[in-house]
Amino acid sequence: MPILRAVIDGDKCLKEDYCPPMEQCPTGAILDDEGFRFVTNDCRGCKKCVILCTHRAISLI
Ligand code: SF4
Repeated sequence: MPILRAVIDGDKCLKEDYCPPMEQCPTGAILDDEGFRFVTNDCRGCKKCVILCTHRAISLI
């Protein structure tokens, strides 16, 4: 079974300075490039970021 990976909906993400998903991802898979937030291949599909994102901007696909 393929591993699910997190994806960020850029329309819902508010790019806040304090971002619990970015802070607490166990593999550091969520990065910010000058305001553009994205998930790298280091994602292990643990779902922690989905639960932590208060804007519901992250889902697993
Ligand atoms: S699903 Fe888990 S490993 Fe993947 S980006 Fe979210 S917190 Fe990180």
